[in-house]
Amino acid sequence: MKSAILATTISAIFALGGCAGQSHSSQPSQPGSSKALSNTAVNIEAGKDYHSFSNPEQISVTHLALDLDVNFDKKIISGDVELSVKRMQEGNNTLILDTRDLTIKAVTANGMPVPYSLGKADSFLGAPLTITIPEGANKVTVSYHTSPQASGVQWLTPAQTAGKQHPFLFTQSQAIHARSFIPVQDSPQVRVTYSATVHTPKELLAVMSASNDPETARDGVYEFNMPQAIPAYLIALAVGDLQFKPMGKRTGVYAEPALLDAAADEFADTESMLEVTEKTYGPYRWDRYDLLILPPSFPFGGMENPRLSFITPTVIAGDKSLVSLIAHELAHSWSGNTVTNATWRDLWLNEGFTTYLTYRIMQMVYGDDRYNMEAVLGRQDLQADIESLPLEDQILAIDLRGRDPDAVFSNIPYEKGALFLRELEQKVGRENFDKFLLNYFEHFAFQSITTDQFMAYLNATLLTDYADALSAERIHQWIFEPGIPKGAPAAHSNAFKIVDEARNQWLNGEIHAKNIDADDWVVHQWLYFLNNMPDSLTQQQLTELDAAFDLTQSKNNEIAHSWLLMAVENWYEPALPRVHSYLVSIGRNKLVKPIYKALSQTPKGKILAQKAFAEAKPGYHPLTVKANEGFVE
Ligand SMILES: [Zn+2]
Repeated sequence: MKSAILATTISAIFALGGCAGQSHSSQPSQPGSSKALSNTAVNIEAGKDYHSFSNPEQISVTHLALDLDVNFDKKIISGDVELSVKRMQEGNNTLILDTRDLTIKAVTANGMPVPYSLGKADSFLGAPLTITIPEGANKVTVSYHTSPQASGVQWLTPAQTAGKQHPFLFTQSQAIHARSFIPVQDSPQVRVTYSATVHTPKELLAVMSASNDPETARDGVYEFNMPQAIPAYLIALAVGDLQFKPMGKRTGVYAEPALLDAAADEFADTESMLEVTEKTYGPYRWDRYDLLILPPSFPFGGMENPRLSFITPTVIAGDKSLVSLIAHELAHSWSGNTVTNATWRDLWLNEGFTTYLTYRIMQMVYGDDRYNMEAVLGRQDLQADIESLPLEDQILAIDLRGRDPDAVFSNIPYEKGALFLRELEQKVGRENFDKFLLNYFEHFAFQSITTDQFMAYLNATLLTDYADALSAERIHQWIFEPGIPKGAPAAHSNAFKIVDEARNQWLNGEIHAKNIDADDWVVHQWLYFLNNMPDSLTQQQLTELDAAFDLTQSKNNEIAHSWLLMAVENWYEPALPRVHSYLVSIGRNKLVKPIYKALSQTPKGKILAQKAFAEAKPGYHPLTVKANEGFVE
């Protein structure tokens, strides 16, 4: 998944959004001064998951067998999960699972009822489910149903879909929302295989982050199997009027019929991306790689659910200009899904590596110009966050104790993480760094690792092999200190030079907007043109730009976003109806949140925000609601 709370540009296309958790007290970590490569943040127990009640160090769950019924009328998922457990020590008979807003109907072990208790609910962690397992029993079955308000499940009415005929359901488990639809050890360091039988209305198709058979009969009963062990945050389900279209040998797309062809065309390069990534970073270990196109309310850009990435439709631009999102979600098949962060503090191991890989995949498939442009835009996103986030939130190995992990999704783990890796690459040479990454994915395959484990590995490999080029002190600074280290790799794009010139000429009154030679500009250049305008423009300037380039009606959701944000900040009235229609038709938090935030700065803007939010809220995902409701109070 990709974050961008403040980002307004393209590299953050993957956009998560959750700037939640402000209500919880934070305990800033204190960057240590030790020069050694070690975890020096005060009192943080490396590898301890502060966001799960579960006890995998005593008993760990190894496999889930789900049998679930999807009820659109009641907006609940109900059924059983059979959990296979492994005792870490003989005599450990207490199993603790995570839950949130679940109704537990019965718990049995090897077929017999067993004692259980549901603890007090924490506001963002949910409630522990404690089960006493009889000696010798190794399978526990929980019968349960979800709440209609489950934080990880969104129910859409037919009106909220592209086809308008059938309802739609999708889940979003990262970071800690799997527990809202499955009682599970919801920690990224607990990996499980799973099987599932899902019952749906006959006319709908269910898909999961598992084996999906494109040829399956549409009969309302669907079987899945995920033979590779994954953390709970990668368990995903969607149900809707879905059809499949192949894109390549191992790649295809699931979407509502109305979107299917456009999606298959837009993402036609997915197979090539898969091939170049394998060639550079080692085998794709997950069999098929398919995409699922969600309705516009999907709160993120994409989610790397294994074998089946969930994708926002807002990147179907008609010109492949926003497909770095696909490269990002695909890259997670290596960094994130194969090698996984052990706790949410270590998220940068997922997202920094994935963002680095995204740039490289885009370069291999689309060339240097695009690589350079995306690198500049990414660097600008990072800079914006560095300027606005508190120091303790600028640290890669962030301290999240007492905070909602949704709060960690800023550009720091993504772009700062990627920049750190780019520096390593530049210092040891690209070919050597590629080899390092290939070995890293092999060495830690199907493991969940901490920042400390990564640093120990780095110590034993690159730091030993390239002692002249690298220093432990510098690496420590990247991982444990705020800001961007001085001398970090810079990004340059020649394609942006002409944009800077045009913008300057226009701002200086040397040229009329309609005379800017922008016929050949690509989307990235437009974003760079708009995002680097001064904060304040006159009504005349805005009118001139709009008349010359029809920006208010832009069909590209990213360009529209940048323009509408400028329109709100400068209160350019002709664009305000589009601001409204934009906010009520898109639920992707990265695109709507900055606009709500800008609107909330003035009384008249707030009125517009309140009106749009009230109209859009029934169709927004709970996470988008949570991230924006503060702006319309
Ligand atoms: Zn991601």
